[in-house]
Amino acid sequence: MEELLRRSEKLTTVGQLAAGVAHEIRNPLTTLRGFLQLQQQSQKLSLSHVNLMLSELDRINLIVGEFLILAKPQATKFVTKDIRNVLNDVLVFLDSEAHLHNIVFRTVITEEECRISCEENQLKQVFINLLKNAIEAMPGGGSVHISIQRKGDRIAISITDEGVGIPEEMISKIGDPFFTAKETGTGLGIMVSQRIITSHQGTMDIQSQVNVGTSVKVTLPALKKEPQEDLPAAQ
Ligand code: ADP
Ligand code: MG
Repeated sequence: MEELLRRSEKLTTVGQLAAGVAHEIRNPLTTLRGFLQLQQQSQKLSLSHVNLMLSELDRINLIVGEFLILAKPQATKFVTKDIRNVLNDVLVFLDSEAHLHNIVFRTVITEEECRISCEENQLKQVFINLLKNAIEAMPGGGSVHISIQRKGDRIAISITDEGVGIPEEMISKIGDPFFTAKETGTGLGIMVSQRIITSHQGTMDIQSQVNVGTSVKVTLPALKKEPQEDLPAAQ
């Protein structure tokens, strides 16, 4: 019975998602079709029409791309990684984008080992999503504070910006598929991230204050520390 409930719940979610995707993709498709029709009626498309068509195609690509990440779990491969290395790779990857927007990453990272079992690419996607949101929240530039701490058998990762923040009435909607406050947002980043973190037995919590900033805290289960190798006995 429980399993049945769980599955029907899942199907409802899938149905809602599918309806959302269909809706979000239909709009740019309608624009594309309209322009192609113009062309067919031998009204030559202007450069701005073509540019708009390209950006609509990019939008479809972005939405489909985010969904591909969700579809991936069938092919997941969990491996043992130190989360400090995973996060560091992401920071290196986003470095030039941060620089371009006058953003500085400030890190406080524990010296303790932080091994976890993870689907590395999915976890990287989570940090990319969260760091991009932080960058986008600070149009005038600023600092993003990133910390990794080990707390017993959990690892806590927090990403804190000094950006626009999230109004209280909006907080509960964050993570709903397609909920975005941005003109060119997809509203899929947090939802996808939340699902990935859940599939890693983790938690995600967002705290925010308008015009002060936003802090996203992720916790993940840590693997036991490797036993320290015996030091050779002093002679
Ligand atoms: P998108 O970035 O495409 O809008 P997300 O799911 O990543 O979609 O985020 C949803 C919404 O949550 C954003 O549009 C924004 O309003 C809010 N949000 C998320 N992260 C932050 C942040 N760090 N600062 C301010 N607002 C944020
Ligand atoms: Mg986002």
